[in-house]
Amino acid sequence: MYLSNYHSHSLFCDGRSTPEDFVKFALSAGFKSFGFSSHSPLPFETNWNMSAADLPVYLEHTAYLKEKYKDRIELYTSLEIDYLDNTYNPSIPYFQEMPLDYRIGSVHFIPVAEELIEVNMVSIDGPFEDFERAVKVHFGGDVKRLVKRYYESSMDMIERGGIDIVGHMDKIYMNGHRCDGFSLEEDWYVNHVKNYIHLIAEKGLMIEINTKNVTRKQHTYPHKQFFSLIRELDIPVMVNSDCHFPNLVNDGREEAFRLLKDHGFTSTRELINGNWTDVPF
Ligand SMILES: [Zn+2]
Ligand SMILES: [Zn+2]
Repeated sequence: MYLSNYHSHSLFCDGRSTPEDFVKFALSAGFKSFGFSSHSPLPFETNWNMSAADLPVYLEHTAYLKEKYKDRIELYTSLEIDYLDNTYNPSIPYFQEMPLDYRIGSVHFIPVAEELIEVNMVSIDGPFEDFERAVKVHFGGDVKRLVKRYYESSMDMIERGGIDIVGHMDKIYMNGHRCDGFSLEEDWYVNHVKNYIHLIAEKGLMIEINTKNVTRKQHTYPHKQFFSLIRELDIPVMVNSDCHFPNLVNDGREEAFRLLKDHGFTSTRELINGNWTDVPF
């Protein structure tokens, strides 16, 4: 098992420690590669995202750490870039012109009005109470309508491109499955995910196995029921902990590798000397 993590947060966004603290933990756990991926700047400020004004410092600081630790661990600079709509997403020149080693694309927000301001955003990744209220207020109490919007945004993100890794691809089920009318097994839901996975395969992107909620909620994103299809379509995967605390750098990894093995995966795709490479496990 190659020890790596390409999805992490630090004080530049909503992570709880300095980038260097994460590197130190990764080193102590024997990691070979580690990527910084703060939440991207948005057209509005949030408690989670990096401010646009901090971006130059982020690039400079992570470059400094790369150099400082170059003999001990491979460090990479990335962003977890939000898809908001067809005007603000990973494919726009602002993100494409940034000197990043790779890009993660994620959907956290569903806009409910045209103007891209925080009050017009439904967060799919926050507390359940907020999610439940948003379903009531903006989607007529029908969680299926929000789920449909989530996968429409996700599909459009893939169509527009500009990313390497699809972040926590079905995170909508974290809060969604607690709402009446949601089902992980029914066709209406499974078909959304299957279509999404087929599109990801067609575009040749990688899917992360996100372990952020493995210990707390026994969730992987994607849900394990979709591992077989991902394998069947030969989509490259890697295991990422999406850590916000240094001691969670390695959280959930063993369980994720066990699931991958059970579903017939034999390798993960890893960034080695700057090249994505299949590494058998
Ligand atoms: Zn995320
Ligand atoms: Zn993240």
